[in-house]
Amino acid sequence: MAGAKCKELSDNQTVMTDTPLAGPFATLSLEPLSTVDRVAEELRRSLFEGEVDPGTPLREVALAAALGVSRSTVREALGMLVAEGLADRVANKGTQVRRLDPEQVRDVCQARMVIETAGVRRWNEADDPLRDDVRRALQAFSDLTDTDYTPAEFTAAHLDIHRALSALTRSERLVAVAESLYAEVRLALAHVDKVRGNALEQVHSHAELLSLLEKSDLDAAADELAHHLSGAETSMLEAITRPEPPTTLTR
Ligand SMILES: [Zn+2]
Repeated sequence: MAGAKCKELSDNQTVMTDTPLAGPFATLSLEPLSTVDRVAEELRRSLFEGEVDPGTPLREVALAAALGVSRSTVREALGMLVAEGLADRVANKGTQVRRLDPEQVRDVCQARMVIETAGVRRWNEADDPLRDDVRRALQAFSDLTDTDYTPAEFTAAHLDIHRALSALTRSERLVAVAESLYAEVRLALAHVDKVRGNALEQVHSHAELLSLLEKSDLDAAADELAHHLSGAETSMLEAITRPEPPTTLTR
């Protein structure tokens, strides 16, 4: 019986490897996907490090040559960035790094305000682990300022605090919406943080918010958050309206 089973498995393997797949799975392939992932990851790194400005064209031919991959691989990777809200396809211009217009920045900030304020308001009812997440995120942000951090690390640690505030709502859906908002502002914020360079001031502003939460002074905490987010909105609006020298990811 054991021999028969082996034979059966062996036959199955033969069928799996020698017969071309048909139907909906015919295009599945692991190797090219992993290359696409690596290309997408490298592009994300570059964007989050603030190496390229919003609105910068992402040219397929130039990127393919620079990264040593096919143009179709670059096209797929760019498709991932578009799906993630990091790039936009613009008619007659191809793909370019996402650039939020002022109205979009205001809308994103308004939506963040609603969700994060709801989180702050629920501080007292939230579970200890959720409150600890806010404390830990602030500590990590503070610790980071003593290191040789990159703009991408700074923005990620900063957004972790706001993510933890949103999580206080204990609503998976609100957290998911907040997550998509953070993805939208992450690029703009990377540039703001890079330009601002006032890391200690940033830590202090969030520490003040946490200390009000620890005192259960939720009205004051909500006011502090509103003040903080309105400052972030102003900085982001300044960053996107500032005239910038034209850049391209690869020349
Ligand atoms: Zn903040």
